[in-house]
Formats: sequence, C-alpha cells, structure tokens
Amino acid sequence: MSERKLATIRKIAAIDPIPEADAISVATVDGWKVVIANDQEYRVNDLVVYMEIDAWIPTDLAPFLSKGKEPREYLGVKGERLRTIKLKGQVSQGLILPLSILPKPLGFDFVSDNQIGEDVGNWLNIQKWEQQIPANLAGQVAGSFPSWGRKTDQERIENIKDVVFGSSEHYSIKDFSKWLEFDKIQPKEGQYIAVAVHGNVQFIHFTDRSMLDETTERWSPAYKDTHLQAKERKYEASLKLDGSSMSIYYKDGVVGVCSRNLELKINDENKDNAFIKTAISTKLLDILPEYGKNIMIQGELMGTGIQGNKENLKDFEFFVFDIFDIDKQEYLKPTDRIKTFDDLIVLGVLMNHVPILATNVTLEELGIVDVESSKVYVDRPSINAKIAEGVVFKAMDSDFSFKSINNKFLLKYE
Ligand code: AMP
Ligand code: MN
Repeated sequence: MSERKLATIRKIAAIDPIPEADAISVATVDGWKVVIANDQEYRVNDLVVYMEIDAWIPTDLAPFLSKGKEPREYLGVKGERLRTIKLKGQVSQGLILPLSILPKPLGFDFVSDNQIGEDVGNWLNIQKWEQQIPANLAGQVAGSFPSWGRKTDQERIENIKDVVFGSSEHYSIKDFSKWLEFDKIQPKEGQYIAVAVHGNVQFIHFTDRSMLDETTERWSPAYKDTHLQAKERKYEASLKLDGSSMSIYYKDGVVGVCSRNLELKINDENKDNAFIKTAISTKLLDILPEYGKNIMIQGELMGTGIQGNKENLKDFEFFVFDIFDIDKQEYLKPTDRIKTFDDLIVLGVLMNHVPILATNVTLEELGIVDVESSKVYVDRPSINAKIAEGVVFKAMDSDFSFKSINNKFLLKYE
C-alpha cells in the first residue's frame, strides 16, 4: 500500500438532508460521510477535492476551519487538522472543496472521471498530521527503517468499499508512469503494475505476467476471480490497539529493533527507551537468533506514556499483529503467523498477540455487509478500554487487508 492519500479527486455519490438542519447536508464520497454547507451548491456527481481526516489543511484553502481564531501551526504551515466531528447529530469526516481550489495549470486537466482517485495533496501543500513522539519513545536512532522490511498500514474501509464488498470492480492496465512518480512505488523485476478501479478509488496491484491475458493485455479470469469473490473471502478480525508500532527482526545473524519509521540503537544509552526496553524484556533479541528464521515481528507497543495508555497497563507490553518473512518478502498468512507466534512462546518469548475476534470467517458471518454495518461491528470495548479504536481485517489466504475505525473512538480521542 502506498502512502495515505489525504487529498484526492472524488465524485459525490449522494447528498442527503440532515434532520432539523437547513443550512447543511450530508454528502457521501465513497464510504465517507461529509457535512457540506448548502450555500456551496454541490450536486450529486460533482467532481470535488476530498480531504481525509488527519489531513493538515493550510489556512488559505479553508480559512473557516479556524472559526475566526488564530490558525494553529504544524510543520511550519498555518492551518487546521481535519478531525471526525458531529454536526446536528451527523458524523462528518473530512472536507469537500471545489475543484477550483486546485492551482492552474496542473499539467493535466480535471474535466473527466479519469482523474478520479488522483492524489492532489502535494499541489495543495497538504501534509499528514501526526502526533509528536513522546520522550520515552524517541531514543537514539541507528538509521531509517530497513528497506527489506515492510511497514503495515491498512487502508480504511471507506476508501475501498467496492473491493471489500465486491461491487463494480474493473481492472485495467493503465499508464502507470504517473503512479511511479507520485507514489514512489517500484515494481520488482518481472512484475507488472495493474491499476484496479474500485468505484472511485484506483488501487495498485503487483502481479506477474501469468495473470495477464497475453494477447489483449487484460486480466486473466483467474486473477479477476480472486478479487471478485469478495463475498467468499475469509478473514481474521483482530482488535486494533492504539499504541505505537514496533518491529523486532532477525536477519542473517543480526537482530534489530525499529519504531514505525526508524531503526533504533541497541545499546546502553538506549536502555530506558521504551522500544529497546520492551525488545529486551520480551526476550526476542535472544530467542529470535535461536529460532533462526529471517523474520520481522511487528506489533503494537502499549503502556505508560503511549497514546494516553488507554488500556491502563502497568508495564510496557508488546502485542503482535503481523510477522513478515524477510526472505520471501511477504507477510505470513494469519494461520502461519499464529503458528510462528506459538513456536516463539514455547521457546520462552514473553509477548502477546492482538486479541483475535474471529478467524476464518466471511464478513457476512460477522454481520458486515456495508461500511455502516462494519461500524456497528467495531463499536465494542477493547482489552481494558471501554472503546476500541477499531478492527483490522486480514484475508486468510491473500495479502489483502483493511481496517474499520470506531467512530466513537475518533469522536472521543481524536
Ligand atoms: P494507524 O494507527 O491508523 O496508522 O493504522 C495502522 C497501524 O495500526 C499499524 O501500523 C499498527 O501499528 C497498528 N495496529 C494496531 N492493532 C493492529 C492490528 N490488530 N493489526 C494491524 N495493525 C494494527
Ligand atoms: Mn495507530
């Protein structure tokens, strides 16, 4: 998955009134609900710029976000962060602005549906708002996150509802030079990039030649099948914990510890760093070499000083959610991950797994048939916290995954 697209060209799918509100309405953009002002005169099927929650919006684009107050500042840009809000009882996520806010000329024009899904964040100077790293997490840096590793980040269900539920998908091979430039993705040797159009969002897939119909350069039916059988797709559903991402690896005789974006020094000066401390206390640094496989264990570091310690833990605890096979360059499927996790526990590793709510189930079996019913499913308590952040769904036999965030969590904490 490429970087989160914070500002994209999208189409308004519906506009509905909000009970007892005459100045505002609610627009539907993919799976998102966004409150719009009626005097803006948006219409269904309008192409607009949609900005997702957590986007940092420069003041000149939307001065009204500061509500007459002095705008805040983030990374040197005056603006405001988009949050989940409730207006007249309607949850609103993100911001819709007209195409006219885009600088001109852009090099390609925005007149057709072909530009739907296009990332325009760079042109608008929109950055992702991120919380400052607390002092107990910073530590001494050894380098950047290893290039042979992988950072997990699931797409939100709102952005890929057609992939998740399997409607109106079609695949095409597109001129992907644009994508290479914007998303900095590089296919490996022999791999093809395919752009799948799912509703309004374009999605990147890597594949080899065998998936393509040689003569027409279309997707082979087999490939389509794997993506169209959305209803039958089986998942593992696990609680999304709100801590800080941490990876501990063993590769060719060397162990390492990484935060979300950096590798940390394993030395005495870092012994009070929460990541290093936990890596040591789990015993992973000793036991992974004994286990001998080139793997990266990824999990959520939870505890004091991290995201408000919502689970109220006494100590730091490490909750595994993924295991990456470094040699094969792929994530272990849920069943293999659990097997490896259990192997390590038997060898004496002290760590947890994120709570698994269900495994080998279809979404329908969980009562999930659309974005809305997914929100009902994820509205649940966490381990100790009353409100879970959300649920991550990982396919049992492919690398497809997505998350659905609990809107109650967003309204309370974000
Ligand atoms: P976000 O916190 O919105 O950036 O979502 C992605 C992050 O969720 C991952 O990088 C993990 O650190 C974290 N996460 C927490 N629980 C899980 C889980 N059960 N499965 C996958 N990722 C998780
Ligand atoms: Mn998080």
